[in-house]
Amino acid sequence: MRKPIIVGNWKMNKTMKETKEFIDAVDAAAASENATFGIGAPFTALSTAVAAAKNLVIAAENCHFEDSGAFTGEVSVPMLQEVGVTHCIIGHSERRTMFGDTDETVNKKAKRLIEAGITPILCIGETEAQYDAGESEKVIRDQLTGSLADLCPECVANIVIAYEPIWAIGTGKSASVEIAENCCRIVRDQVKVMYGEEAAEKVRVQYGGSVKPGNIVEYMAQPDIDGALIGGASLKADSFIEIVEKTK
Ligand code: 13P
Repeated sequence: MRKPIIVGNWKMNKTMKETKEFIDAVDAAAASENATFGIGAPFTALSTAVAAAKNLVIAAENCHFEDSGAFTGEVSVPMLQEVGVTHCIIGHSERRTMFGDTDETVNKKAKRLIEAGITPILCIGETEAQYDAGESEKVIRDQLTGSLADLCPECVANIVIAYEPIWAIGTGKSASVEIAENCCRIVRDQVKVMYGEEAAEKVRVQYGGSVKPGNIVEYMAQPDIDGALIGGASLKADSFIEIVEKTK
């Protein structure tokens, strides 16, 4: 049985003070044997989040693949290890479109995180134009082929993959349950093609894109959807608690 994992992705939101207030309000509700709940926070808020959370897992939203050096503005995996995060989002579409992340750099980040014992939450997903052109499956398989290259099957079994169609992110236009399930099934199948049945059965696949309290239950009822990566609806304690309660 795969343990569900629901993670809020705050993106560039929340100061340290706001982070403390949110974690204090939400953490008790996140206590569960049946599912993992977490928050992805900006770098500046990570130590506050780690210190305040007893039940929530804390994720960074990006990392660099080199340990140190002349990379102005970047944060390395050893730095994240020291802060104490257990997860790290990589390859989010906003990073791919605005900051030049590619399958190749995402693959390097995944390798470095796995080496450090931090669980990557690898994001993939097609654009609206690719969706309209019927290319979703090809894009998903191609992104996974590049981002998951040269890993060990046991490593892939333990990561989290977030399928986030770009057209559903922040638009309120969530993918239908059928589309989300079908694409998450394709993700699992591509893991099977690359790393075999066992890795495919174990890897957890999230859906992301306009997930909210009103639709979380139907997504979570799908056989290949093991969780969600949630943007807007993770910013308010009330709505995140509602999602947590509906998932527990
Ligand atoms: P929204 O939930 O705001 O659509 O954002 C999804 C997302 O990008 C999570 O990583």
